[in-house]
Amino acid sequence: MDQNELRLLENRCIQDEPPECMAACPIHVDARAFAGHMARGAGQDAWKVLKKTMPFPSILGRICDAPCRDRCKRGKAGQAIEIGRLERACVSTPAPKQRIPALPKKEKRIAITGSDLDSLTAAWDLARKGYEISLFDSGDQPGGCLLAMSEKILPRYVVEEEIRELSALGVDIRLNAPVRDEVFHGGMRHDFDAVYLGVDHIAALRDENNGVFVYGYFQNGSSGSPVWKAAEGRRAATSIDRYLQKVSLTAGREREGPYSTRLYTRTDGVIHLSAVQPLDPVLGYTPDEAIREAGRCLQCQCLECVKVCEYLKHFGGYPKRYTREIYNNASIVMGARQANRLINSCSLCGLCEAVCPEDFAMQTLCLEARREMVQKGRMPPSAHEFALLDMAFSNSEQFAMVRHEPGFKTGIFLFFPGCQLSASAPAMVKKVYAHLRRILSGGVGLMLGCCNAPAFWAGDENLFQAEFSSLRDRWNGLGRPQIILACSTCYRIFETHMPEAQIISLWRVLEEKGLPGDLSVKHGAIPLAVHDPCTTRHDSGLQNSVRTLLLRLSQPFEELEPGRSHTECCGFGGLMQNANPDLAKTVARRLSGKSPADYLTYCAGCRDNLAAAGKRALHILDLIFPEVGGPDPGARKRPGWSLGQENRIRLKDELLNELWQEGLRKMDDHEKTVLNIPQEVQLILEERRILVSDIKKVIHNAEKTGETLFHPETGHYIAAFKPYKATFWVEYSVSGSSFTVHNAYSHRMEVAGKGET
Ligand code: SF4
Ligand code: SF4
Ligand code: SF4
Repeated sequence: MDQNELRLLENRCIQDEPPECMAACPIHVDARAFAGHMARGAGQDAWKVLKKTMPFPSILGRICDAPCRDRCKRGKAGQAIEIGRLERACVSTPAPKQRIPALPKKEKRIAITGSDLDSLTAAWDLARKGYEISLFDSGDQPGGCLLAMSEKILPRYVVEEEIRELSALGVDIRLNAPVRDEVFHGGMRHDFDAVYLGVDHIAALRDENNGVFVYGYFQNGSSGSPVWKAAEGRRAATSIDRYLQKVSLTAGREREGPYSTRLYTRTDGVIHLSAVQPLDPVLGYTPDEAIREAGRCLQCQCLECVKVCEYLKHFGGYPKRYTREIYNNASIVMGARQANRLINSCSLCGLCEAVCPEDFAMQTLCLEARREMVQKGRMPPSAHEFALLDMAFSNSEQFAMVRHEPGFKTGIFLFFPGCQLSASAPAMVKKVYAHLRRILSGGVGLMLGCCNAPAFWAGDENLFQAEFSSLRDRWNGLGRPQIILACSTCYRIFETHMPEAQIISLWRVLEEKGLPGDLSVKHGAIPLAVHDPCTTRHDSGLQNSVRTLLLRLSQPFEELEPGRSHTECCGFGGLMQNANPDLAKTVARRLSGKSPADYLTYCAGCRDNLAAAGKRALHILDLIFPEVGGPDPGARKRPGWSLGQENRIRLKDELLNELWQEGLRKMDDHEKTVLNIPQEVQLILEERRILVSDIKKVIHNAEKTGETLFHPETGHYIAAFKPYKATFWVEYSVSGSSFTVHNAYSHRMEVAGKGET
């Protein structure tokens, strides 16, 4: 990604756009920040916000006509925030002591006529830029019509104080000046480098050229609005500065004065609240009333994606910021790549894009970054190693197989159950395959293996392409049958990468061809909450098929909100579990909390993840193929990594033996090692992602070579072995011909984490 592309992408995220109040304000006071401080009762901080942008805040804060109200988002849920009244409440308290920084002196002299807010603002802004300012007023007191205002609204001492500050900045105030006199104007033209004519002194000099400037003369239209007057003075000051600096008078000034902002803020669902009415409308808000009124401010922001995504929340930012971090991460030649974990933790579920008003797709950014890291050899192996090893296992001889239906030499269909369903519920795979053979004629082949989504999610394109093309070859070898897919992740992968294949979801097949006859066991009359896997987000047809099946099963159900196109991830996808197991648990827990009902889903990964988070969850196959008198399917545990692999090995063995009469597979020597693993150690192994098969390898090797350490006090042995990239240590004891495992460790590198330990 080059800088240009980066900027374009960053700009898609509008979170940093100003809120409506700030954009509508002619001088762009940050009313959001101001209201935020006021709501906390932090008047001094609120004061500082005003001082940052507002000229003469003690004056303008009391008399601002608040045009921002018309665009305040709170207006859509009650009444607009009374920013004007809040400003008045703020500036009625003592101002914080702040030094006014001025730039080094400049050699140019500027004359300003009048002393209404426009002239005062122009003088203030230009003096702070270092110009030598002379302010000419026709009256005998500076302040113009400000002095004519009611003492209750704008006390005279306030005007005098602010004028004193102007003088302190070096502005030379000259009173009783003949500002309408031609000769006087001739003198100003001669003595000064630029002249600003205040709105209260506009004479016949107005120019056709939008009244902006004639030979160093600047003036504005007259406005009755105090804040507009200040804005006009500021605009003139900018023009004069640019004129004297000999730079473009117009470039980059699109956002001067009110402009439209792209910031999106949701107001549906926000409780309507009316504005707080001050007990004394003349005096305005009391401190308590001001706190209550400011508390109504919505603190407008977008963050639509962050609201629905634990991952985005976890890293404490939002996509615009992450884009830059990810780009910087890629640019680092040497040193720690702080954003590695950020890049690898996204579940690639696409919900951010679905909720974003600008369609920002964080998953595309993260996947691209992963690909780049893999290409450049910068992906830490620990990020995805375990998932890729599991994928390799699924594609190995231990699980992968492909056959025509027993007794057939060709086939019209091919059932691909996927690795997750086979790992989670192998018996179900056998039942589905039997049913498909019953309801479909012409031959239903079977292919076991992985769709290679882990390599795709890991950004390892070479590995993905190599494995997927071998899968494609096997499918071609079968004569290109229609593929029946039980897993929505497989469905997405096949749909995208094998467009030449005809694919169909198992749910559609069952919808069209029929469910099994014996549906006598029902889960119950209590509605189940349907969780749509994130890989079905854009496939309402697939989602509908599942609901049709539930209706046919007479299974009451309710929609899990948000569902369908806005369904939330379970933490399984995108290899989040590998890069950030704790975050994946938080994600699963969040999803679990959406409804107290038992969940019904149609992805084995989702079901198992929910079950691991303590949520009662069923796979739709539990309803379609109920086990009479069997255990409660809603309470089924996640099988864990080791059992998942054993289940796949056994499934293949049993299928080959029972359907194709090919006999049982010969076991490797290490597989014959008999282990006794106490429950608490099993949990440790699962947590540390250590497979029982690897423990068997370690003990088998130790017993064969005698390379062990013996602890005489405990009677335990410690042995190590490195079957592939990771090294495993196992502490065990011998009991007859079996081995009791007491502990195990593995050494895999950890991914450096931003802000994490
Ligand atoms: S939804 Fe997220 S990515 Fe989209 S504009 Fe809002 S904060 Fe940015
Ligand atoms: S609700 Fe608050 S932040 Fe939003 S537009 Fe109104 S004042 Fe500004
Ligand atoms: S793809 Fe999913 S996990 Fe990733 S940022 Fe978007 S919503 Fe969050």
